Amino acid sequence: MTAPDPAALRAAAQVPADAPLPLVLHGQPVLHTPAAEVTAFDAALAALVEEMFTTMYAAPGVGLAAPQVGVGLRVFVYDVGRGRRGHVVNPVLERVPGELQTDLEGCLSAPGLEYDTPRALHARVTGVDVTGAPVVVEGEGLLARCLQHEVDHLDGMLYLDRLGGRTRKQAAKDVRAADWHGDAHRVLTRADVLEQEARRAAGDDDPDDDEL
Ligand SMILES: [Zn+2]
Repeated sequence: MTAPDPAALRAAAQVPADAPLPLVLHGQPVLHTPAAEVTAFDAALAALVEEMFTTMYAAPGVGLAAPQVGVGLRVFVYDVGRGRRGHVVNPVLERVPGELQTDLEGCLSAPGLEYDTPRALHARVTGVDVTGAPVVVEGEGLLARCLQHEVDHLDGMLYLDRLGGRTRKQAAKDVRAADWHGDAHRVLTRADVLEQEARRAAGDDDPDDDEL
């Protein structure tokens, strides 16, 4: 599948040309459907990745998968701080067996909510970049959590779907009560881009607090 024109994504949500891409919210089918493999490594794909970085930073977030901007393609971007930043096309996830981590996790597509979510401590993703060249990303802690969260998005799954028992019930209740519930998009503006750029430039940036 090939990447769509970002102008069409903005038009669908009626946002101006200088705004980041609108963030698709929980409940929209694109977030709950497995994404397609990328087959065209063209300028449109490179443009999509650039747009996704802009949107992720404006949100702000530490990871963003293409379905979160309404694109059902296997692509994600991430920046978990300390130079650990990049993008992966057609990723394949390997959870390294062994230790688990449990920490609060949140999602840009279900803003304002966070729950303790168990994840593998170590994870590794293989895939390609926008030119089709091989990429390997490997890490632990927040980076491993991010890799697992983003690949889940590409498989049509949110972290909320991974919660167990009582937490899952509480989360479903919280989603229904959220002020964004029923909205298709969260619209970001040029002002969000500038505000978050200033925040990062000032070093006022704790990636652990950000959503994925
Ligand atoms: Zn997410």
